Amino acid sequence: MKFSFSAMWNNKCPRCRKGDMYKKPLQLSKPLDMHKQCENCNLDFEPEPGFYFGAFIISYGITAWMLLVPALTLVFYFKWSANQAMALTIFIAALTYLKALRGSRSLYLHLMARYVESTWKDDNSSSKYDRTIF
Ligand SMILES: [Zn+2]
Repeated sequence: MKFSFSAMWNNKCPRCRKGDMYKKPLQLSKPLDMHKQCENCNLDFEPEPGFYFGAFIISYGITAWMLLVPALTLVFYFKWSANQAMALTIFIAALTYLKALRGSRSLYLHLMARYVESTWKDDNSSSKYDRTIF
């Protein structure tokens, strides 16, 4: 399995690394509006109902450490007040909200699906079985 941080960071399909996972342009009212399947290789982006519940755990872990470590460092090392550290933490959380939300789904799908090196547009053998990720 070749994991591509670049494809994960840019929300590309984990199987072909060409198709976009999310619809463009981004609508703030629907930040998780995804394509049903990859426009390039037909990988199903939601293989089963509730598939992305695992992404919540990833999102929680990343966000908690991303916010907790700087806040505690500011309070205990740089002697900031708790209110100052909390204000900065909320500011960082607001800036990184959408990236963490979408990135956790992308990371989860990239951990579950394999990269297949192929020329997907030329390959017309997309059966129902080919649309699954496993
Ligand atoms: Zn694809």
